[in-house]
Amino acid sequence: MSTWKYKAYRSIWSALDLLFPPQCGGCGKQGVRWCDDCRRNVQVLDGIVCDICGLPQDKPGVCGVCLANRPHFRSLRAWAVFEEPVQSALHKLKYRRDISMGDAIAAEMLPYVENLRMDWKFDLIVPVPLGKQRMRERGYNQVAMIAKPLAMGLGLQYLPNGLTRRKETRSQVGLSREERRQNVHEAFQAWNGANGKNVLIMDDVSTTGSTLSAGAEALYAAGAREVYALTVARALSHHDLRRV
Ligand SMILES: [Zn+2]
Ligand SMILES: [Zn+2]
Repeated sequence: MSTWKYKAYRSIWSALDLLFPPQCGGCGKQGVRWCDDCRRNVQVLDGIVCDICGLPQDKPGVCGVCLANRPHFRSLRAWAVFEEPVQSALHKLKYRRDISMGDAIAAEMLPYVENLRMDWKFDLIVPVPLGKQRMRERGYNQVAMIAKPLAMGLGLQYLPNGLTRRKETRSQVGLSREERRQNVHEAFQAWNGANGKNVLIMDDVSTTGSTLSAGAEALYAAGAREVYALTVARALSHHDLRRV
Protein backbone atom coordinates (compact mmCIF):
# COMPACT_ATOMS: atom_id res chain seq x y z
CA MET A 1 0.00 0.00 0.00
CA SER A 2 1.51 3.37 -0.91
CA THR A 3 0.64 6.84 0.25
CA TRP A 4 -0.46 7.99 -3.22
CA LYS A 5 -3.24 5.45 -2.93
CA TYR A 6 -4.20 7.02 0.37
CA LYS A 7 -4.28 10.47 -1.29
CA ALA A 8 -6.49 9.08 -4.06
CA TYR A 9 -8.73 7.40 -1.49
CA ARG A 10 -9.07 10.62 0.49
CA SER A 11 -9.87 12.62 -2.64
CA ILE A 12 -12.80 10.27 -3.32
CA TRP A 13 -14.25 11.17 0.06
CA SER A 14 -13.64 14.88 -0.63
CA ALA A 15 -15.50 14.55 -3.94
CA LEU A 16 -18.40 12.83 -2.17
CA ASP A 17 -18.46 15.70 0.33
CA LEU A 18 -19.26 18.06 -2.57
CA LEU A 19 -22.23 15.92 -3.57
CA PHE A 20 -23.46 15.21 -0.05
CA PRO A 21 -22.48 18.06 2.27
CA PRO A 22 -20.98 16.47 5.37
CA GLN A 23 -21.65 16.99 9.06
CA CYS A 24 -18.99 17.01 11.74
CA GLY A 25 -18.76 13.53 13.30
CA GLY A 26 -18.30 15.02 16.75
CA CYS A 27 -20.81 17.88 17.06
CA GLY A 28 -22.94 17.67 13.91
CA LYS A 29 -21.91 21.09 12.56
CA GLN A 30 -22.56 21.36 8.81
CA GLY A 31 -19.89 21.58 6.13
CA VAL A 32 -16.98 19.48 7.44
CA ARG A 33 -16.52 15.91 8.58
CA TRP A 34 -14.44 16.94 11.60
CA CYS A 35 -14.50 20.56 12.83
CA ASP A 36 -11.73 22.56 14.53
CA ASP A 37 -13.63 22.68 17.84
CA CYS A 38 -13.91 18.88 17.92
CA ARG A 39 -10.24 18.57 16.96
CA ARG A 40 -9.37 20.64 20.03
CA ASN A 41 -11.82 18.76 22.26
CA VAL A 42 -10.49 15.25 21.64
CA GLN A 43 -8.99 14.02 24.91
CA VAL A 44 -5.86 12.38 23.50
CA LEU A 45 -4.53 9.70 25.88
CA ASP A 46 -0.91 10.86 25.92
CA GLY A 47 -0.23 11.01 29.67
CA ILE A 48 1.50 8.39 31.85
CA VAL A 49 0.01 4.94 31.18
CA CYS A 50 0.87 1.31 31.97
CA ASP A 51 3.55 0.07 29.51
CA ILE A 52 1.39 -2.93 28.65
CA CYS A 53 -2.35 -2.25 29.00
CA GLY A 54 -2.22 1.51 28.41
CA LEU A 55 -4.44 2.51 31.34
CA PRO A 56 -3.59 5.84 32.99
CA GLN A 57 -1.49 5.61 36.12
CA ASP A 58 0.52 7.89 38.36
CA LYS A 59 4.01 6.63 37.54
CA PRO A 60 5.61 4.89 34.52
CA GLY A 61 5.99 1.09 34.40
CA VAL A 62 3.71 -1.93 34.38
CA CYS A 63 0.49 -1.86 36.45
CA GLY A 64 -0.46 -4.42 39.10
CA VAL A 65 -3.21 -5.94 36.95
CA CYS A 66 -0.76 -6.68 34.10
CA LEU A 67 1.88 -8.02 36.51
CA ALA A 68 -0.68 -10.47 37.94
CA ASN A 69 -2.19 -11.51 34.61
CA ARG A 70 -0.16 -10.40 31.63
CA PRO A 71 -2.19 -9.76 28.44
CA HIS A 72 -1.05 -11.47 25.23
CA PHE A 73 -0.34 -8.31 23.22
CA ARG A 74 2.96 -6.63 23.78
CA SER A 75 1.33 -3.25 24.31
CA LEU A 76 -2.09 -1.61 23.95
CA ARG A 77 -2.71 2.06 23.29
CA ALA A 78 -5.76 4.16 22.50
CA TRP A 79 -5.77 7.46 20.69
CA ALA A 80 -8.45 9.10 22.83
CA VAL A 81 -10.69 8.78 25.85
CA PHE A 82 -14.12 7.33 24.99
CA GLU A 83 -15.92 10.63 25.62
CA GLU A 84 -17.21 13.35 23.33
CA PRO A 85 -16.52 14.15 20.55
CA VAL A 86 -15.02 10.73 19.69
CA GLN A 87 -17.97 8.84 21.22
CA SER A 88 -20.44 10.49 18.81
CA ALA A 89 -18.17 9.91 15.82
CA LEU A 90 -17.86 6.18 16.61
CA HIS A 91 -21.61 5.95 17.19
CA LYS A 92 -22.30 7.45 13.75
CA LEU A 93 -19.89 5.04 12.13
CA LYS A 94 -21.22 1.99 13.95
CA TYR A 95 -24.97 2.52 14.22
CA ARG A 96 -25.93 5.26 11.76
CA ARG A 97 -24.18 3.83 8.70
CA ASP A 98 -22.01 6.93 8.28
CA ILE A 99 -19.07 5.02 6.87
CA SER A 100 -17.29 8.22 5.78
CA MET A 101 -16.59 8.67 9.51
CA GLY A 102 -14.06 5.82 9.31
CA ASP A 103 -11.83 7.82 7.00
CA ALA A 104 -12.32 11.01 9.05
CA ILE A 105 -11.33 9.25 12.30
CA ALA A 106 -8.32 7.59 10.63
CA ALA A 107 -7.10 10.97 9.37
CA GLU A 108 -7.40 12.48 12.86
CA MET A 109 -5.56 9.53 14.44
CA LEU A 110 -2.78 9.36 11.88
CA PRO A 111 -0.22 11.67 13.61
CA TYR A 112 -0.71 9.75 16.90
CA VAL A 113 -0.12 6.40 15.17
CA GLU A 114 2.88 7.71 13.22
CA ASN A 115 4.36 8.66 16.58
CA LEU A 116 3.68 5.17 18.00
CA ARG A 117 5.51 3.65 15.07
CA MET A 118 8.76 5.21 16.27
CA ASP A 119 8.75 2.37 18.85
CA TRP A 120 6.30 -0.13 17.40
CA LYS A 121 7.74 -1.57 14.19
CA PHE A 122 4.59 -3.23 12.86
CA ASP A 123 4.38 -4.29 9.21
CA LEU A 124 0.67 -4.83 8.83
CA ILE A 125 -2.71 -4.00 10.32
CA VAL A 126 -5.43 -6.54 11.15
CA PRO A 127 -8.91 -5.43 12.31
CA VAL A 128 -10.84 -7.28 15.02
CA PRO A 129 -13.55 -9.09 13.03
CA LEU A 130 -17.28 -8.90 13.74
CA GLY A 131 -19.26 -12.02 14.48
CA LYS A 132 -21.24 -13.45 11.53
CA GLN A 133 -24.54 -12.36 13.03
CA ARG A 134 -23.46 -8.74 13.53
CA MET A 135 -21.80 -8.63 10.13
CA ARG A 136 -25.10 -9.69 8.56
CA GLU A 137 -27.04 -7.04 10.46
CA ARG A 138 -24.61 -4.17 9.88
CA GLY A 139 -23.21 -5.14 6.49
CA TYR A 140 -19.74 -3.79 7.24
CA ASN A 141 -17.10 -3.97 9.94
CA GLN A 142 -16.76 -0.47 11.40
CA VAL A 143 -13.20 -1.26 12.55
CA ALA A 144 -12.18 -2.05 8.96
CA MET A 145 -13.49 1.37 7.89
CA ILE A 146 -10.83 2.94 10.14
CA ALA A 147 -8.04 0.36 9.87
CA LYS A 148 -7.92 0.34 6.07
CA PRO A 149 -7.37 4.08 5.50
CA LEU A 150 -4.97 4.11 8.45
CA ALA A 151 -2.87 1.37 6.81
CA MET A 152 -2.95 3.35 3.55
CA GLY A 153 -1.89 6.53 5.34
CA LEU A 154 1.06 4.69 6.91
CA GLY A 155 1.94 2.91 3.65
CA LEU A 156 1.47 -0.49 5.34
CA GLN A 157 -0.18 -3.75 4.41
CA TYR A 158 -3.80 -4.16 5.49
CA LEU A 159 -4.99 -7.70 6.16
CA PRO A 160 -8.80 -7.62 6.49
CA ASN A 161 -9.13 -11.37 7.09
CA GLY A 162 -6.02 -11.89 9.19
CA LEU A 163 -8.33 -12.89 12.03
CA THR A 164 -11.72 -14.60 11.91
CA ARG A 165 -14.20 -15.47 14.65
CA ARG A 166 -14.33 -19.10 15.77
CA LYS A 167 -17.40 -18.50 17.88
CA GLU A 168 -20.10 -15.89 18.41
CA THR A 169 -19.49 -13.95 21.59
CA ARG A 170 -21.99 -11.89 23.50
CA SER A 171 -21.46 -8.16 24.01
CA GLN A 172 -18.80 -7.37 26.59
CA VAL A 173 -20.86 -4.47 27.97
CA GLY A 174 -21.67 -4.92 31.65
CA LEU A 175 -19.30 -7.89 32.15
CA SER A 176 -16.54 -7.97 34.77
CA ARG A 177 -12.88 -8.24 33.75
CA GLU A 178 -12.86 -12.00 34.33
CA GLU A 179 -16.19 -12.51 32.53
CA ARG A 180 -14.86 -10.54 29.56
CA ARG A 181 -11.76 -12.71 29.43
CA GLN A 182 -13.86 -15.89 29.51
CA ASN A 183 -16.32 -14.56 26.93
CA VAL A 184 -13.63 -14.01 24.27
CA HIS A 185 -11.38 -16.95 25.23
CA GLU A 186 -10.37 -18.79 22.02
CA ALA A 187 -12.83 -16.62 20.09
CA PHE A 188 -10.40 -15.98 17.23
CA GLN A 189 -8.50 -17.86 14.58
CA ALA A 190 -5.55 -16.20 12.82
CA TRP A 191 -4.44 -17.02 9.28
CA ASN A 192 -0.91 -17.37 7.98
CA GLY A 193 -0.65 -13.79 6.68
CA ALA A 194 0.65 -12.90 10.14
CA ASN A 195 3.44 -15.50 10.10
CA GLY A 196 6.82 -13.90 10.88
CA LYS A 197 5.33 -10.39 10.91
CA ASN A 198 4.95 -7.63 13.44
CA VAL A 199 1.23 -7.06 13.58
CA LEU A 200 -0.98 -4.23 14.77
CA ILE A 201 -4.42 -5.47 15.78
CA MET A 202 -7.12 -2.78 15.83
CA ASP A 203 -10.49 -2.32 17.47
CA ASP A 204 -12.76 0.71 17.89
CA VAL A 205 -13.12 0.80 21.69
CA SER A 206 -11.39 -1.12 24.46
CA THR A 207 -12.17 -1.34 28.16
CA THR A 208 -10.03 -4.04 29.80
CA GLY A 209 -8.35 -5.07 26.52
CA SER A 210 -9.57 -8.70 26.75
CA THR A 211 -10.80 -8.89 23.12
CA LEU A 212 -7.49 -7.59 21.80
CA SER A 213 -5.58 -9.95 24.08
CA ALA A 214 -7.55 -12.94 22.72
CA GLY A 215 -6.88 -11.71 19.16
CA ALA A 216 -3.18 -11.32 19.93
CA GLU A 217 -3.01 -14.85 21.35
CA ALA A 218 -4.41 -16.22 18.07
CA LEU A 219 -1.97 -14.13 16.01
CA TYR A 220 1.00 -15.43 18.03
CA ALA A 221 -0.29 -18.97 17.57
CA ALA A 222 -0.22 -18.30 13.80
CA GLY A 223 3.44 -17.27 13.98
CA ALA A 224 3.32 -13.48 14.45
CA ARG A 225 6.58 -12.07 15.78
CA GLU A 226 5.20 -9.16 17.83
CA VAL A 227 1.58 -8.13 18.29
CA TYR A 228 0.68 -4.58 19.24
CA ALA A 229 -2.87 -3.41 19.87
CA LEU A 230 -4.54 -0.11 19.12
CA THR A 231 -8.02 1.28 19.56
CA VAL A 232 -9.58 4.57 18.61
CA ALA A 233 -10.85 5.08 22.13
CA ARG A 234 -10.54 3.78 25.67
CA ALA A 235 -13.52 3.52 27.98
CA LEU A 236 -12.25 4.61 31.40
CA SER A 237 -13.67 4.20 34.87
CA HIS A 238 -14.31 7.39 36.86
CA HIS A 239 -11.23 6.52 38.86
CA ASP A 240 -9.01 6.31 35.75
CA LEU A 241 -10.62 9.38 34.18
CA ARG A 242 -9.35 11.53 37.06
CA ARG A 243 -5.78 10.52 36.14
CA VAL A 244 -6.07 11.75 32.53
ZN1 LIG B 1 -17.44 19.31 15.56
ZN1 LIG C 1 -1.43 -2.63 32.81
